[in-house]
Amino acid sequence: MAVRKICKQKGCRASPRCEHPWWFDVMHNRKRWRMPVNDFALARGATEPITVKHTAETLWEPRFLAEIVAGRDPTVPPEVPKAAVGVTVSDFLDLYYANYVEAEGLRDPVTVKGRLKAVKAAGGSAGYSAGKACRHPSIQGCV
Ligand SMILES: [Zn+2]
Repeated sequence: MAVRKICKQKGCRASPRCEHPWWFDVMHNRKRWRMPVNDFALARGATEPITVKHTAETLWEPRFLAEIVAGRDPTVPPEVPKAAVGVTVSDFLDLYYANYVEAEGLRDPVTVKGRLKAVKAAGGSAGYSAGKACRHPSIQGCV
C-alpha cells in the first residue's frame, strides 16, 4: 500500500516536492488499484486538492482501502455526496422544486407544488438514505 507520485518516472526532477498530484497505488487480492488521491478525495467531501502526503496517507488512504475491501470500486464516485447524507425527503423535494420546477419554468408550478406538498405529507419525515439515492430525480422514482 502506498501513496506516491508518478511524475518522477516522467522526468519530474522536483518530485516529490512538486505540484504534481499524489496517487494511490494499492494491491488487494492480487489486484492493483491506482488513482489520483484528488479524484478520490474530492468526490468524497474534500474541499481542496490533497497536496500533503501525510494527509493523503492518514486521512484518505484508509478510506480508499476500506472501499476496496468492501468490494466497491473506488474509482466510481459514491452516489450521494457527503453533503446530502441526512437530507430528508422533505428537504430533497424543496431542492427539487427550486432546481427543476422553478428553474425550468414549468407551465403550472402551483399544481406541481401542490403535488409535492401531498408527497411530503405522505413521506416527508422519512430519512433520505444513501440506499435510496436517485441519480435522475423524479417524484415517483425517489419517494
Ligand atoms: Zn512532479
